[in-house]
Amino acid sequence: MAAQVDNIGMFIKGMTQPDELIKYIQARFPEEEIQQAYTQMVEASKALGRDEKITPLRAFWKLLDRSYQKKTPPMQCGEGCAHCCHTGVTLTQMEWDGILKLVEEKGIDLEEIIERSQRTIKKVREVLKSNRNIDQVDWHNLVINQPCPFLGEDQACMVYEDRPLDCRLVVAFRGICDSKKLEHAQRGVVVEEAIGSTVVAKLQHDQTPKFKRRRFQGTQPLRLFQHWLILWQDKKSSKNKK
Ligand code: SF4
Repeated sequence: MAAQVDNIGMFIKGMTQPDELIKYIQARFPEEEIQQAYTQMVEASKALGRDEKITPLRAFWKLLDRSYQKKTPPMQCGEGCAHCCHTGVTLTQMEWDGILKLVEEKGIDLEEIIERSQRTIKKVREVLKSNRNIDQVDWHNLVINQPCPFLGEDQACMVYEDRPLDCRLVVAFRGICDSKKLEHAQRGVVVEEAIGSTVVAKLQHDQTPKFKRRRFQGTQPLRLFQHWLILWQDKKSSKNKK
């Protein structure tokens, strides 16, 4: 689907294919601006992290929020509206680690989350057990229209402060989106959003011990929430067996 842009070119209506979004971003922001914003954001996240004794990722989330507050009209999304929480959310290892930290801080019971998300977890497990090439699996479609594992019964996000980039990029600025299928969600496009996934990938790269690091290629592997939960549960049960 081609990106549908409003008359001031600030919002994209609905979800678009990643290649459409990339084309839109490239047309909207000059390469030099993207490069400059990327370098500044990586350094600023590390510096704020050091100053406030928080992880660079939490610092990046703060800086991204500030950019939205400065550059876009107020969001219309509010607690209890969870239309865009019924799709597949993918995240990097570092984003997952941030959520695990918050889960611990808040005393969230992951076993309980796993139990009530069995429907989608089962689907993901089946794919992982099959011989399919996982790079070719349409992960989003596998779990679409089902609630995110971290969507509480009150329709509020249980890990809101540390929600992944995927969740931060689909929002409503004009009226409510009113659709679980996300056709009416809107994306506010600020340059910090355009560089968000590369910044997260770079922060993860830089915090990986040098002996484990590969050459930085601009991305890090992404997995669905359900996949991370499976890995967490498998690790826990193999520890218990020892
Ligand atoms: S992590 Fe939170 S914001 Fe993101 S989809 Fe899940 S419930 Fe919604």
